[in-house]
Amino acid sequence: MALLDIVTFPDPFLRLKAKPVKKIEKDMQVLIIDMFETMRNEPGVGLAAPQIGQSIRLVVVEYAEEPEDENAPTPEPKRYVLVNPEIVKRSEETVEGMEGCLSVPGLIGNVERNESVTVKALNRFGKPQKIKANGWMARIFQHEIDHLDGILYIDRATDIYESISEENSEYIE
Ligand code: ZN
Repeated sequence: MALLDIVTFPDPFLRLKAKPVKKIEKDMQVLIIDMFETMRNEPGVGLAAPQIGQSIRLVVVEYAEEPEDENAPTPEPKRYVLVNPEIVKRSEETVEGMEGCLSVPGLIGNVERNESVTVKALNRFGKPQKIKANGWMARIFQHEIDHLDGILYIDRATDIYESISEENSEYIE
């Protein structure tokens, strides 16, 4: 296992359109484990392969959704490996929220996203999966899938701020 180097803005590598994964080889399992480890170490809640210098359509996400009752304990994080993900449905409703990005250190920005999305992807074993997400999970999926198309949240942000507190770190993708 290894921590991977994060490619940071304005490296033009982040602007490439990533290639679909044709076959999930054994070494991709190692890459996936390393991506989870790198994401947790930063810490972040999502990581796309272009951010670690691999121009392939692969995303990992690990995020514990906030319970609706604020006194309830934080649930176990949900983990996803998305191979060749595609957003097949978007809600009309949009919401604004603060995002950060491991590839754009030191900044956060306000981005309007669809409130819910349905994502089709393969899992780490090549099995098709369909995930309906809303709120922050939907935001994370949209942010990560954007990375695969060379889009950064700063392209979409209405306001960008310098991030001075650690408080926002759970939103870093
Ligand atoms: Zn990002």
